[in-house]
Amino acid sequence: MDVQAQRKGREGKRNVELKAALVKSSSRLPLSASSLKRGPDQMEDALEPAKKRTRVMGAVTKVDTSRPRGPLLSTVSQTQGHNAAQKGPKKTGPGGCSAVGTVLRSQKPAPAAPAKPGTSTAPVVVGKRAGKRPAWDLKGQLCDLNEELKRYREKTETLELENRGLREQLREVQEQATTLGTERNTLEGELASVRSRAEQDQQRLETLSARVLELEECLGTRERLLQELQGERLQLQEERSTLSTQLEEQERRFQATEAALSSSQEEVVCLRQKTEAQVTLLAEQGDRLYGLEMERRRLHNQLQELKGNIRVFCRVRPVLEGESTPSPGFLVFPPGPAGPSDRPTGLSLSRSDDRRSTLTGAPAPTVRHDFSFDRVFPPGSKQEEVFEEIAMLVQSALDGYPVCIFAYGQTGSGKTFTMEGGPRGDPQLAGLIPRAMRHLFSVAQEMSGQGWTYSFVASYVEIYNETVRDLLATGPRKGQGGECEIRRASPGSEELTVTNARYVPVSCEKEVEALLHLAHQNRAVAHTAQNKRSSRSHSVFQLQISGEHAARGLQCGAPLNLVDLAGSERLDPGLPLGPGERDRLRETQAINSSLSTLGLVIMALSNKESHVPYRNSKLTYLLQNSLGGSAKMLMFVNISPLEENVSESLNSLRFASKVNQCVIGTAQANKK
Ligand code: ADP
Ligand code: MG
Repeated sequence: MDVQAQRKGREGKRNVELKAALVKSSSRLPLSASSLKRGPDQMEDALEPAKKRTRVMGAVTKVDTSRPRGPLLSTVSQTQGHNAAQKGPKKTGPGGCSAVGTVLRSQKPAPAAPAKPGTSTAPVVVGKRAGKRPAWDLKGQLCDLNEELKRYREKTETLELENRGLREQLREVQEQATTLGTERNTLEGELASVRSRAEQDQQRLETLSARVLELEECLGTRERLLQELQGERLQLQEERSTLSTQLEEQERRFQATEAALSSSQEEVVCLRQKTEAQVTLLAEQGDRLYGLEMERRRLHNQLQELKGNIRVFCRVRPVLEGESTPSPGFLVFPPGPAGPSDRPTGLSLSRSDDRRSTLTGAPAPTVRHDFSFDRVFPPGSKQEEVFEEIAMLVQSALDGYPVCIFAYGQTGSGKTFTMEGGPRGDPQLAGLIPRAMRHLFSVAQEMSGQGWTYSFVASYVEIYNETVRDLLATGPRKGQGGECEIRRASPGSEELTVTNARYVPVSCEKEVEALLHLAHQNRAVAHTAQNKRSSRSHSVFQLQISGEHAARGLQCGAPLNLVDLAGSERLDPGLPLGPGERDRLRETQAINSSLSTLGLVIMALSNKESHVPYRNSKLTYLLQNSLGGSAKMLMFVNISPLEENVSESLNSLRFASKVNQCVIGTAQANKK
């Protein structure tokens, strides 16, 4: 603002000065009042031609006056003439324009005017334009020349005057030009500053334009964003309306549910009352059930006792492929007391008496040997039928009675088939061990409903040549089954345990199957090491059963033993022993010793002898707790159907019959 004010002030001052200068020279310069009103720039432009004219005039002034001035002066005179015409006649003064105009006009080639007669001076003729005097009129010519000289003198004076005027004018104009030059410099400075300001403004303008573009872009982006947001908003509005519809629906449902709930609550109250009544009833029935269960156990045990605490079942295996069919009547199974459909209990084996025929020379008479057991299974009997007969005994083990099941017979009579089963994978051929386990697990499951919790721990050992080996050994001991010893579980305890043997907790059939498979593998490895070892050793599968009725503080536990005995065949004393058969003799003696010890133990128990020779064999020692008075025992005598095995079959049947005659004292459940 200050700069502008200063500028305006300067401009005003300059205008005043200019006006003054121009007023001074207004009589000589063709500047109108309107020109004075213009701005400094316009003023410069307006002054420019004047300067030029002045210069021209100056130049003219300096020019030799002898030169013709017509065309140059005529230009000035035209302009002045024009101005004069515009402004009208003015008073002439010394050095005034009118004087110049007059002089200039007089210099114009005047049109040839006719000379006035009677005057010597007229007509005024310059040079040849006046009528030529006759050559003889020298006086006239002199007169003319004087006239002309006079005029020239006047004219010279006039021109000098004019020249002085013009010089004066020139000086003034030069002063003005100087002033104007200064002015111009000032103005140029101002112009430069204005220009720089204009440039700055331009830059600012560009910056602002760029900013405007930026803002426009931003605006565009925002508009797009706005559009997107509007789209989203629309979507959300739609969603919202959908949700409101759903909400309404849910509210309706909620109300309906609430109504249903209130009616249900009433029902619940009603049902609670019923439940309470039923809980009381259930408790009563639980007590009754427990009473009944105890009664069942007592009756079951009584039944087992009636059946005998030691029972013997005979099983005859079928004739296998490639074996010669025995002659009819070799083996006969008389029907049971209730008829042919009744379960057979007897077996007749016919054998020709060779000794008599040699003595008499007559054809050998046939001697029939009749045997009777608790049950006889002819060759066609299924594994399932066999198990059904022992299922009750297995149940006894759950009730807390030690149970021992043996398979006795010569090699190849079907002991392993009875105990473990046929080839793996066929469930129909599964033997007593897997079936007993399945039965135990399922009954234990049922009993859990009555508050009983059962746990089972399995072990499987082999007794070969009076050494005990673990059949469940894994890792480096696999197959070798590092030697084990039978020891008391703790000093003073009656419980026996096998050192170095694995005791594996089991809870399902699959686990038991895996154990049987492992035992099979271990036996196969041992089999290659010692020929036919499996048939020359006793395999003892033991399952320690522990039951607990926490609510009534009852506990029961008993072992279930499933024993696959070594082949009962004897060495033929008539046959000489080969060099490699000394081992076999030793094996056989060990087997016979342990089997006869088993028989002796059973006899001693039966006869209630004070000393029972349990310690005479590893087998009886290991089974000590399962053979006593409180135990239940079952012996399978496995028989070959072949005539060639008749001798061994008879031996087995005789041994079994002896066992069958034994009655062991009343069994006692191991209850705490
Ligand atoms: P052991 O163990 O007494 O030496 P095995 O159980 O090994 O005798 O039986 C010898 C052969 O007879 C095996 O091939 C077995 O599969 C077969 N076998 C035994 N008993 C039966 C049976 N009840 N039904 C079918 N095959 C049997
Ligand atoms: Mg066997």
